[in-house]
Amino acid sequence: MKDSLQGGCACDKVRYRLASAPMFVHCCHCRECQRQTGSAFVINALIETDRIALLAGEPKAVAVPAESGRPQEIYRCRDCQTALWSQYGGRTTLSFVRVGTLDDPAALPPDVHIYTRSKLPWVTLPRAIPAFEAYYDSSQLWPAASLERRRAILG
Ligand SMILES: [Zn+2]
Ligand SMILES: [Zn+2]
Repeated sequence: MKDSLQGGCACDKVRYRLASAPMFVHCCHCRECQRQTGSAFVINALIETDRIALLAGEPKAVAVPAESGRPQEIYRCRDCQTALWSQYGGRTTLSFVRVGTLDDPAALPPDVHIYTRSKLPWVTLPRAIPAFEAYYDSSQLWPAASLERRRAILG
């Protein structure tokens, strides 16, 4: 699996590799993600920031206002401005990697659909994957090993 977890921006100046599988994968249908991407949802792989190995380039953090009041830092290629990953609320040890930037985005299917209250009506969700109107209780849903990894970075 490791070898498939490489990705990069549109102009190829930034290339990265995930050093392991992520802790969990969100498909987020919130309005902020829709606006930022200009699309129906975003797919975020939650992983320790130090497991994102940069192979080329260095993305630049752009602060974007968030509903929570704490800005979201979106890391973009300095040239083509593709958004590669982001961090919320100053938690720099946890990154949300945009799965669409992987060379093989199918490698990381969503583990959960969130903020389905603003899901576009023509998007049909698979029944087998948990879905929530807003956020969810990760302690109920995440594998024990992932919860342990999160504790290790966030306490
Ligand atoms: Zn680029
Ligand atoms: Zn969202």
